Amino acid sequence: MKPAKFKFLRPVTIEDAIEYLEEYGEDAKIISGGQSLIPVLNMRLSTPKYLIDVSRIKELNYIKKEGSFLAIGALTRHYEVEESELVQKYCPLLTEGMKNVGHPQIRSRGTIGGSIAHADPSAELPCMLSALRGEIVIIGPDGERTVPTDEFFLTYLLTSLEPNELVKEVRFPVINENFGSAFIEMTRRHGDFALVEVAAVVGLDEEGTFSFVQLAVGGAGPTPIILEDIEDFLIGKEPTEQVIEEAVEAIEDYLDPEGDLHSSAEYRVHLASVLTKRALLTAINRVPKGMMA
Ligand SMILES: Cc1cc2nc3c(=O)[nH]c(=O)nc-3n(C[C@H](O)[C@H](O)[C@H](O)COP(=O)(O)OP(=O)(O)OC[C@H]3O[C@@H](n4cnc5c(N)ncnc54)[C@H](O)[C@@H]3O)c2cc1C
Repeated sequence: MKPAKFKFLRPVTIEDAIEYLEEYGEDAKIISGGQSLIPVLNMRLSTPKYLIDVSRIKELNYIKKEGSFLAIGALTRHYEVEESELVQKYCPLLTEGMKNVGHPQIRSRGTIGGSIAHADPSAELPCMLSALRGEIVIIGPDGERTVPTDEFFLTYLLTSLEPNELVKEVRFPVINENFGSAFIEMTRRHGDFALVEVAAVVGLDEEGTFSFVQLAVGGAGPTPIILEDIEDFLIGKEPTEQVIEEAVEAIEDYLDPEGDLHSSAEYRVHLASVLTKRALLTAINRVPKGMMA
């Protein structure tokens, strides 16, 4: 199918993009890499009168270390993050997870801001950002606001972005060099969206017990889910398989998956439990040796 007719607008500054959004609001849609939006338009699931192509706004393409964050401009493409030495050094979880976003062709066009704004609960970036407790910088006519993931992702493909706002930057907390991290997902074929995915970051103290645990699961509910109770349970405990087994016992209480043609809800819960254990064990193994008791 072909998209319904639209008027194509090409701002080159953030101000111009916001002016267009102010003028056309609900009738307009932003397009960045088009990797999610184009199929939606082609199937006529969305028929905006105006497409605002922000891909020429050069000031939105950057990866910078700012204090305890890696600040990534919304228009930075997936492959740029995947290949960034800065990202590999300060947030290896992100480097690992990016390799699972579609295929190289998708990653060469798709953008960080697009993936976050699209808010697919099975997408890798929202899950990693949630595990890391990252933030989204939003810009609109009244200036900027910064929101945590649990205030940004509302439900399937829905965020707290207003029609006159755009994602400006995504802020990924730097991972302590003494911590270990892991991203693991299960897909039907490589490059597919995850059935379920888990991102984990762990730190151990001198006794070898958990001093830091951050965990999120994607594909098991309408938004990425931070496994806060499991994190709290693990702190101060030994990183053994038995303890981890115990920690994930009640995982289904936190999840809200729906069954679809790819897998049943029960299978997603099972996967979440298995992958959380695997992600934790992998992250523990990646804690630098000097930091393990
Ligand atoms: C075959 C295929 C496989 C895929 N596999 C995966 C996968 O495994 N994992 C995964 O995560 N994704 C996957 N995707 C989806 C895709 O990679 C991302 O969702 C996509 O990269 C989003 O970025 P984009 O720049 O292409 O966004 P676009 O398609 O341009 O936009 C997506 C949505 O975000 C909005 N938007 C875009 N930029 C902004 C902004 N700066 N501010 C506010 N709103 C904005 C748009 O209005 C639209 O609603 C796949 C896509 C295809 C076609």
